[in-house]
Amino acid sequence: MKTIPSTLAEARARDAADPLAHARDRFALPPGIYLDGNSLGARPRATPAHVAEVVDRQWGESLVAGWNRHDWIGLPARLGARIAPLIGAAPDEVIVTDSVSVNLFKLIAAALMAAPAGRTKILTEPGNFPTDLYIAQGVAALRPGTILRTLPVDAIAAAIDESTALVMLTHVHYRTARMLDVEALTAAAQAKGAVILWDLSHSTGAVTLDLNAARVDLAVGCGYKYLNGGPGAPGFLYVAERHQARLVSPLTGWFGHQDAFAFSDDYVPAPGISRFLCGTPPIIAMAALEAGLATFDGIAIADVVAKSRALSDLLIARIEALCGDALTLASPRDADRRGSHISFAHEDAYALTQALIAQDITGDFRAPDLFRLGLTPLYLGFADVWRAAETIGELVRTRGWDRPEFRKRAKVT
Ligand SMILES: *Cc1c(COP(=O)(O)O)cnc(C)c1O
Repeated sequence: MKTIPSTLAEARARDAADPLAHARDRFALPPGIYLDGNSLGARPRATPAHVAEVVDRQWGESLVAGWNRHDWIGLPARLGARIAPLIGAAPDEVIVTDSVSVNLFKLIAAALMAAPAGRTKILTEPGNFPTDLYIAQGVAALRPGTILRTLPVDAIAAAIDESTALVMLTHVHYRTARMLDVEALTAAAQAKGAVILWDLSHSTGAVTLDLNAARVDLAVGCGYKYLNGGPGAPGFLYVAERHQARLVSPLTGWFGHQDAFAFSDDYVPAPGISRFLCGTPPIIAMAALEAGLATFDGIAIADVVAKSRALSDLLIARIEALCGDALTLASPRDADRRGSHISFAHEDAYALTQALIAQDITGDFRAPDLFRLGLTPLYLGFADVWRAAETIGELVRTRGWDRPEFRKRAKVT
């Protein structure tokens, strides 16, 4: 293992030797240091031209013929197949569609609808990402008799029993970056006859995932975080091949029909993963996601993971050295148990975040007290992290964040 750089010169030397250094040119980055790619990935250089090609030439010239001529109809499956190797899935187990929230709804409901009699319980953890909890609450309200139980994550495995239909967990926690053991928890659910649904929103494109090796049943993930698909990019869902004929989407839209263009009156689900489509796919948004996925072309995910860990270790070491007790690490110190962002608790994390943004260093705030920094190996270097830590250290030392203008809350944090 390489040691953590202890001078700016050493950080620069790591950048010079970095096998991913070339990937930075794939992005159009404004001045400053962007540490929020875990919330919204940076904009790939190729996105405007690719979207313009779809709008100007494909839509402009082909009009409705574009569905066939440019295979727009096949885009959800094509993009799914490109995500598959990033998560250890087969190409026909992944499809790009809808938002993460809608995909959660479809898979939670599908799992409950297919559960044997008596399996009525959903298990998840309190403090899971809000939309995951809200959608589970919504599905439970639609299905009288469903029990939604939240338990501290360490107590989940022991609580799975013959009344459990579904275990729903987020792999990398959005607040702390705590990473769960996919293989162990999947095996625990399956040993008791339950199905597991993993939310990979903060994982895909940043950490090692092998859904097939872990025999994962179901998963959802996000297109606009580490996959760089642009604000509101469509999400994806994964259904293990062995479940595809068994599970039916509760949103029985025509794009999930086995023959949408037969225009028949009765719904018959398509045979494979495309039964989880619902309505007409947003082709322009998907084109932007296609450009986002292309930023991973020729990149070994193992290199991404190794660099993410090294950047994170450097950030933690520098911030702790410069800030002392003013910031408290809220993420696991052990890289094996951590995703690709780092959170610190601070007495006024909101003001500190705003003060940093005023110096062109973008992190974000998560209520009530966390200040969160995302490490995106494709476009961040060791010297960036070094400089960001220096600025944070200076702000903390001088209490430069302690000013009224940094306390004014915006709608989106
Ligand atoms: C970002 C994120 C989502 C986003 O859901 P949308 O429907 O795309 O808004 C869902 N779950 C988790 C865990 C996330 O991190």
